Amino acid sequence: MQSEVFVIGGGPAGLAAAIAVRLNGFRVTVADAARPPIDKACGEGLMPDSIAALARLGVQLHPDDGFPIRGLRFLGDGASVEAAFPSGLGVALRRTRLHEILVNRAEQAGVTLCWGRRVRGPSDIPPCRWLIGADGQNSRVRREAGLDSATRSSFRFGFRRHYHASPWTDFVEAYWGPRCQIFVTPVSPEEVCVALLCRDPHMRLDDALPHFPELQHRLAGATCSDLERGAVTYSRRLRRVFHGRTVLIGDASGSVDAITGEGLGLSFRQAAVLGEAMVSGNLAAYQAAHRRLTRRPAFMGDLMLLLDRSPWLCRRVLHIMAFEPAIFGGLLAIHVAEPSPAQAVL
Ligand SMILES: Cc1cc2nc3c(=O)[nH]c(=O)nc-3n(C[C@H](O)[C@H](O)[C@H](O)COP(=O)(O)OP(=O)(O)OC[C@H]3O[C@@H](n4cnc5c(N)ncnc54)[C@H](O)[C@@H]3O)c2cc1C
Repeated sequence: MQSEVFVIGGGPAGLAAAIAVRLNGFRVTVADAARPPIDKACGEGLMPDSIAALARLGVQLHPDDGFPIRGLRFLGDGASVEAAFPSGLGVALRRTRLHEILVNRAEQAGVTLCWGRRVRGPSDIPPCRWLIGADGQNSRVRREAGLDSATRSSFRFGFRRHYHASPWTDFVEAYWGPRCQIFVTPVSPEEVCVALLCRDPHMRLDDALPHFPELQHRLAGATCSDLERGAVTYSRRLRRVFHGRTVLIGDASGSVDAITGEGLGLSFRQAAVLGEAMVSGNLAAYQAAHRRLTRRPAFMGDLMLLLDRSPWLCRRVLHIMAFEPAIFGGLLAIHVAEPSPAQAVL
């Protein structure tokens, strides 16, 4: 059976797109060079709005899939401030578990999945009406469709390791240090995910941890449950996300710095609007919605990267927010404000 839609990349964005497009009645095939469950360096946190976006694709997360997250806590320079999400809970779960869940949902929806299949060029692409590029940060589809032109692009590095440790909180913790941040996310009752974000390609978790004695103390004695895994995190906005029959989604379509914890949620929201745009054959509507969906996380990312670039400003802001936690609560409420599907397409 020939597919109307061929998706290159079966990561979270490619699977979400395939599910959304399939739910809109298209025959869909996904090809990925890797085999499931696919892992990746990630903070592994899903905000309440990301969970709502998943639910719209028929993906329900169960309590056993991960660890419920109540809010966000910033720590640094002796200051600490926290806020609960204004409504609902987030969930943190192993990246491999999230992939399994998305694969199951795609299979159930009737998506054809081809694992271990790298697409090296046009000759590997079967005849199809639409081609979706969900092949991540270094998207080959983007390059070959002439969509690489960006209005901005900067990058940092991310490293992630899991520790066997009982979570000491149900908040995601962000430790702010000298030009780096460490995020701690409880992913199960026995395990925490520790992710470093920095501009220095040579810095690793073991180099950064001594800057955070409180965290180092908490992790002392905990064994690592895997090797450190790295990735590049881009802040990138593309001029266009489609050309002819080719359309991009997820990190391939531009991205926000990992500090926002929004990359996954963004691609789930993009998937929903892409599914609708394909029905009307109007990819310009998808591009407009994509731009609107990116605006808020990109703005929040810019704010946080401002603090990353200026340790002085970061210290001042942390102390002000610790003194006035309502400011932090207000910012978190803006950060997780989920645009309705109608807002996204308007
Ligand atoms: C350190 C770090 C921490 C992060 N923390 C969070 C977080 O806490 N919460 C959050 O929401 N987001 C987070 N993110 C962002 C999130 O990981 C990404 O936004 C997300 O992985 C994007 O998914 P994707 O499917 O677009 O790309 P990917 O996950 O990169 O998937 C792309 C897929 O395409 C496949 N592929 C590539 N080329 C080909 C080819 N030629 N042929 C076939 N297959 C191909 C690859 O095998 C891969 O499976 C973080 C990112 C980093 C780097």
